[in-house]
Amino acid sequence: MNHKMKCSIEQKCGGCQYLSKSYETTLSIKKQYVMDCFLKEKIVCQVNHVYGAKNVYQYRNKMILGVQWKQNKYIYGFYEENTHKIIPLDFCLLHSNIQNEIAKNIFDLIVQFHIPPYDEDRKTGLLRYICIRESYHTQKCLVTLVTAKSEFPSRGELVKKIIEKCPNIETIIQNINPRKTSIVLGEQERILYGKGYIEDKLCGLTFQITSKSFYQVNPEQTQVLYQLVHDFGNFQKDEVIIDAYSGVGTIGFTLSPYVKEIFSVENNSQAVYFAKKNAKENHIHNVFIIQEDATKFLLNFLDEGKRIDTIIMDPPRSGSTPIFLSSVLKLKPNQLIYVSCNPETLARDLKILLNKYKIKKIALVDMFCWTKHIETIVLLTLKN
Ligand code: SAH
Repeated sequence: MNHKMKCSIEQKCGGCQYLSKSYETTLSIKKQYVMDCFLKEKIVCQVNHVYGAKNVYQYRNKMILGVQWKQNKYIYGFYEENTHKIIPLDFCLLHSNIQNEIAKNIFDLIVQFHIPPYDEDRKTGLLRYICIRESYHTQKCLVTLVTAKSEFPSRGELVKKIIEKCPNIETIIQNINPRKTSIVLGEQERILYGKGYIEDKLCGLTFQITSKSFYQVNPEQTQVLYQLVHDFGNFQKDEVIIDAYSGVGTIGFTLSPYVKEIFSVENNSQAVYFAKKNAKENHIHNVFIIQEDATKFLLNFLDEGKRIDTIIMDPPRSGSTPIFLSSVLKLKPNQLIYVSCNPETLARDLKILLNKYKIKKIALVDMFCWTKHIETIVLLTLKN
């Protein structure tokens, strides 16, 4: 599957920036990008290894499609970057055949059932997005239909037809998002079919995934990343560690056999609910899952004067906060593992941490083949 593939909408879509280059070249560009971000902050270091992907196409487990009227034609596809324009989709190389097919089938039925797309300006219509999540382990899918209103005429019939046509769909959710926003999902949800979640397996552990929970988009490379966290950490059986910005608990759970105790901190309530459920399912007893802002948690932890050996942090694109970072400097764990999907905020945050820490190792994991994005993992140790 790794021979070069062509995309008919590459120029317009903007999802993939580097499809016309060789895969090797894309990795060099990304490495240079990370080095440039570090240099801008005057951080001198070297990248020890770049982990390119084995499967560079069809790797994404999540697809988000918008719907729109375009010159009297009902279309579906991805949004052109920073615009309200949808580029009609035929087949996306980054997603599996299963997801591409489900998208097409659902869209055909939506047209057949005359379910109108939502028009943000006129505030008319109903359907905003079709989201598909696929389990890497079972290839079963969770579909979320995002609507602007709660009323959804003929939804029963529609769901019945979707299930008939798409045997891989295990559950369907209606998410209601009435707000004028570019955020895809609203608060309120209704399960239209199935259990409301799908199950996946990563690193030998089972995870239940819902419409809202954060879950890495490239499962194969996620396992490479989590293995690296384990290897970088060189953990001891009596260690107490913090997994900050923990999502559904994935990183901490994979480390649970190797350490004494883990504090897993996440602020999203749905993610925390499922992290707790996932811990039970996997018979994990040494991970304490806490729903709190990571900065507040660290401040409290500091007040209580408890010992911590390692902090793992995996913040969102915006990075961490100055107070979180200064609390790390006061807590002084022996080592720190920073996982980041944004080299710019990573470099900004490292600059502060380098007051007391030194960089031991840096690796890049290409989770987002053909796009400009890259995942970075940094091991820092306390200076003497
Ligand atoms: N480590 C996880 C998730 C990383 S994504 C994984 O590998 O899957 C970042 C996570 O940080 C998201 O789940 C997001 O909900 C959470 N988050 C964002 N801001 C936060 C904050 N201020 N405090 C705690 N968690 C936060």
